[in-house]
Amino acid sequence: MVPRERVADNVYSFQSDVYAQVTAGAVIGPNWAVLIDTLAMPDETLEIRTFIEQELGVPVKYVINTHYHADHSWGNCFFPGAVVIGHANCREKLATLGRASLKNARLQSQMFRSVKIVLPHLTFKESTLSLRVGKKTLTLSSLPGPCDDNIGILVEEDRVLFAGDAFMPLPYIVDGDIDDMVASLKKIGKMGLENIIQGHGDIVLRGEIDNAVKDNLAYLSAVRKAVRKASRRKYPFELLEEVDIESCGKSRVLIGGLAVELHYRNLRALYRKQFGEPHIRDEDDYDEEEEEEFDLEE
Ligand SMILES: [Zn+2]
Repeated sequence: MVPRERVADNVYSFQSDVYAQVTAGAVIGPNWAVLIDTLAMPDETLEIRTFIEQELGVPVKYVINTHYHADHSWGNCFFPGAVVIGHANCREKLATLGRASLKNARLQSQMFRSVKIVLPHLTFKESTLSLRVGKKTLTLSSLPGPCDDNIGILVEEDRVLFAGDAFMPLPYIVDGDIDDMVASLKKIGKMGLENIIQGHGDIVLRGEIDNAVKDNLAYLSAVRKAVRKASRRKYPFELLEEVDIESCGKSRVLIGGLAVELHYRNLRALYRKQFGEPHIRDEDDYDEEEEEEFDLEE
């Protein structure tokens, strides 16, 4: 069974023990439930469905996607009776990028044979969207950073935020934007929350939130600094390879050990975004002196 926690009355979170500690959530009303994200593997999503429908005894009426990434949205198809809700960009990205990557995944694994991309039926963009479930009010709003379609779902009465990938043990910006991520983290820090359900990893408790926000902001500024330094070198990616995750204030064991790989992807993606492909840079474009110093280190 997918590990789960009861976060508040009628509010649950689930965490995959198979893939990248990805999470999902559920808010249970008297007659029906809202599912927040699905998990990476069809079996895991089906286990959650069984728990809600058989053990709690209510059908899933709404599925909210925090964003379009496969590990959060490919289980939509297992709730054929549900209305799927997401950001307008989530719908667009699932229709294009999502469908293309499912095609690929099917070639590589039997597991995704049963998966179909189901696009959000109900979308919103700049505003917020409110959904009442029993005695709970869910407020959906944009929290970009990991990608431009990421949304957060706040359970108002419990001050519990399902943050999607705007909050992770290691911020991941490869598909998104570092400035958006900084803005979303600062916004989350000011929301007066009891719990944050991160898109990946463990629940962040009230007393841990300030530090977790600070840590993530410090990590992003370390990444920025490293990329700026690399931009002055002839072979910037060689320098980036030497910027280990610990030097940016994070541990390599995070996200089930995936953190190191994600960290290097962050560095390279930010570099490309700010300075372009490293090999097409002008020969005279770097600092000779620093280049020499770099050679000595090799
Ligand atoms: Zn994710």
